[in-house]
Amino acid sequence: MLRDAYPEFIELSSAGKSVEGRDLLVISLGTGDRRILLCGAHHAREYITSSFLMKMVEAYAEKASKGQPFGDFRPAELLGRVTLVVVPMVNTDGVNLVNNGFKAVSSQEEVEAMTMVGSGYRAWKANINGVDLNRQYPAYWEEKYDDVKRPASQNYKGSASATEPEVQAMMALARSDDFVLSASFHTKGEVIFWADSGTVNAINGAKDIAVRMGELTGYELMPVSEKPSAFGAGFENWFRQEFLRPAFCIELTPEDGTDEPHDDTEFDSLVWEKVKYIGLFLAEEALKR
Ligand SMILES: [Zn+2]
Repeated sequence: MLRDAYPEFIELSSAGKSVEGRDLLVISLGTGDRRILLCGAHHAREYITSSFLMKMVEAYAEKASKGQPFGDFRPAELLGRVTLVVVPMVNTDGVNLVNNGFKAVSSQEEVEAMTMVGSGYRAWKANINGVDLNRQYPAYWEEKYDDVKRPASQNYKGSASATEPEVQAMMALARSDDFVLSASFHTKGEVIFWADSGTVNAINGAKDIAVRMGELTGYELMPVSEKPSAFGAGFENWFRQEFLRPAFCIELTPEDGTDEPHDDTEFDSLVWEKVKYIGLFLAEEALKR
């Protein structure tokens, strides 16, 4: 529908398939030569990040098609120079479990046998193989905590790096093009992770972008992540290591003391009003690099 509404700005493709065979939707927004990669919902219960990326695409496309500004940004001009490559939902099967319940899962016996770390299926983070997709990438994977040693609702890093099809698809997508920078969206904390000790000295300008992104959103900057056991194997850490370019992990939404998803009806105040310009901001940053 989005593509039909804005065919001059939007192209759809698939990065690959999930464990249960769902397409990993890729939305390319814009026609510019410079490209940035944005992704959401590596963690199932954080699917409000998918809602955010979808709404972002729609809002920017609408403003661009009308030639209207959006805040201080000019979407039509920016999208003519930068393409936002967006994967709204990396963990489609996990999000299906969180939203549609256990009965909607294909391999119910396997899922039932997995370790439940959180409060229930609404709090599921892993993919449907019980592997935490943001502990899977081949960047200090060996050093990453392995506190959970078998398939589980969260925190199991897998038997090796990059065993999961969703991770393989994201790696292939990232390598398929020349992305100037990347951002991966998670929830709870309203903070920005912008560097880790593995690559902080090899990537110029990331802190400067992070500082201004903090001013734009009101989010706090985290210190440089020091321990590979903590930061290892995340998408953003792998992207930095692989390409020596900025990659941000952005935790949307305030901490609310639960491990369950936020109330979707609060999307505008929890998410949108704070971060609606972030994609255009990152596009502008890409033009400076
Ligand atoms: Zn997360």
